[in-house]
Amino acid sequence: MSTPALRMAEDVGLLPPSGIRAIASAAWAVPDAIHLEFGEPDFDTPTHVVDAGARAARDGRTRYAPTPGIPELRDAVCAKLARDNAITEATRDHVIVTPGGVGGLTLAYRALLETGSEVLVPDPGWPNLRTIADIVKAVPVPYRLTADRDYQPDVDALDSLVTDRTRAIVVNSPSNPLGSVWSRASIEAVAEWATSRGLWIISDECYDQLWLDEPSTSISAVAPDAAVVTVFSLSKTYAMTGWRIGYAYADPAVITRMAKVQETTTSSVSTPTQHAAIAALTGDQAGVAAMRSTYRSRRDAAVQRATELGLDVLRPSGAFYLWVRLPVGAGDATTFALNLLERTGVAVAPGPAFGAGGEGHVRVSLAAAQPHLMHGLDCIAEVALS
Ligand code: PLP
Repeated sequence: MSTPALRMAEDVGLLPPSGIRAIASAAWAVPDAIHLEFGEPDFDTPTHVVDAGARAARDGRTRYAPTPGIPELRDAVCAKLARDNAITEATRDHVIVTPGGVGGLTLAYRALLETGSEVLVPDPGWPNLRTIADIVKAVPVPYRLTADRDYQPDVDALDSLVTDRTRAIVVNSPSNPLGSVWSRASIEAVAEWATSRGLWIISDECYDQLWLDEPSTSISAVAPDAAVVTVFSLSKTYAMTGWRIGYAYADPAVITRMAKVQETTTSSVSTPTQHAAIAALTGDQAGVAAMRSTYRSRRDAAVQRATELGLDVLRPSGAFYLWVRLPVGAGDATTFALNLLERTGVAVAPGPAFGAGGEGHVRVSLAAAQPHLMHGLDCIAEVALS
């Protein structure tokens, strides 16, 4: 088919390509490459969850689901929010089931932001937190998270970014790519500030259960008066990335708007997947604890090895990423990642894929077998320090 000469949406054409995909595509061309660039659990979905999804499909639960999700799942979400997030006020009307966390974020952005609205997004931060803003014709305004503040937010710096078009701030703790977790004091300070400024908070808590030290704190639990939309996912917690399911918690008025967007765009999440999600949320949580403990031992081993090798790394307290600061002289991070792949067959995500604040860093995924991880760190040190 020939390239159409007709005009297409220019802004979509201008969306930047993902810096992670770019390195991943290069890595796929390298035989026996070691993939440490992906943010995807290396576990299988637990058997009881797969069985519940398959059973639902076999039993004929294959029709459209209600737009906000099937009632039993929304009830299961409310129980999970009380059990794991100290959110005790949730009712069905506070919850919408979404196609993954990215689906929940897209609905939240579209429900709250208008053309030209500014939304503060973390830098370094997950790239989609910027590009979803682009898709809904809002303006992402990066706010820096820096090592000198332990990657905790600086309320004065946030305040200096506010204009009369600012409508929301996006928070992501535990963070991809940093693996950092905001302290309760940071969360309370940002919630108080956003409330005083009349801003929405969109809280991406897709790694809420992948805390490695202390359980992470949900903004809604500690700041009940703030205007928060919290987005969760089953992708990481239950190794369900390909099932495409998550959920959001907000005031029913916001959920109603998010449901309007969902009705128009995807109608609802796959019905068998929703039944699998009920099994995941209500079933035995031992598998989650086991994954957490595996990530924790990989984290401990990786931090120890990196330190022995003379690499400067941030010890992650959540999620499954190691944020590595490249030594001065290692060159720019994107070129470094390409060199590393070429010379050693190890793929890592270059820091600038996560915003300008990621320059000078690479992200190493802990969602990989430990020997691969150790070898990857050896190669990073060899290339960076040579
Ligand atoms: N939020 C963050 C910070 C992520 O890293 C990801 C996935 O990598 C997501 C949201 C969305 O994941 P999913 O759409 O699979 O739930």
